[in-house]
Amino acid sequence: MNYAVPSWEIPFVPVAGSDARFPVRHIYCVGRNYAEHAKEMGGDATKEPPFFFTKAADAIVAVVPPAVGQIAYPPATKNFHHEIELVVAIGAAGANVAAERANALVFGYAVGLDMTRRDLQNDMREKKRPWDIGKSFAQAAPIAPIHRAADVGHLAKGAITLDVNGTRRQTGDLADMIWDVPHTIAFLSTYYELLPGDLIFSGTPSGVAAVVPGDRLDARVDGLTPLSVVVAPARA
Ligand code: MN
Repeated sequence: MNYAVPSWEIPFVPVAGSDARFPVRHIYCVGRNYAEHAKEMGGDATKEPPFFFTKAADAIVAVVPPAVGQIAYPPATKNFHHEIELVVAIGAAGANVAAERANALVFGYAVGLDMTRRDLQNDMREKKRPWDIGKSFAQAAPIAPIHRAADVGHLAKGAITLDVNGTRRQTGDLADMIWDVPHTIAFLSTYYELLPGDLIFSGTPSGVAAVVPGDRLDARVDGLTPLSVVVAPARA
């Protein structure tokens, strides 16, 4: 193939219990999908339909235990936040999918972090500008291996927690989502045809806070491979 500039490898996430790779096409993210987090961000999301933003696929940092991933402290922020999320991996195409049929699109689930430049996100929000610079940047989407739904079932409840340097920062239960995974897929698929390789970050429980270089993050969802990353110094 004759590319005009150097090409790159398709970003991928390992599949647990397999040597197969899950290629990443789009990364969709749900905003304010747990009521307590919506409150801490200054809103009441409980009666609103879900809303979405995206990250670039090359924001993926796949981490396979016992390895601990490294993410560089990103530029242009003084308030770099963690958001632990259940990530849904899409394995089949679908548009305008009814919630009752949505699980048929799901290949599997993983633990992920929606890393956020909170000061930039809030600044853009106040100015009614796009959130992109707060949410989509290099290494903004660390993720652990994907477990096939065929192996672990469809996850609707279970603890979701994040520790920083061994201290619990975020805790919740998947059952506390305002819009569960099938309804999230139903809404999202009215805007986009979902495609194999798409990932959906399904929102974070309360307790989001800042990290600094040297901090270690341990993210867990019941039944899935945990995700551990260390924040490295900013790149020179
Ligand atoms: Mn998030």
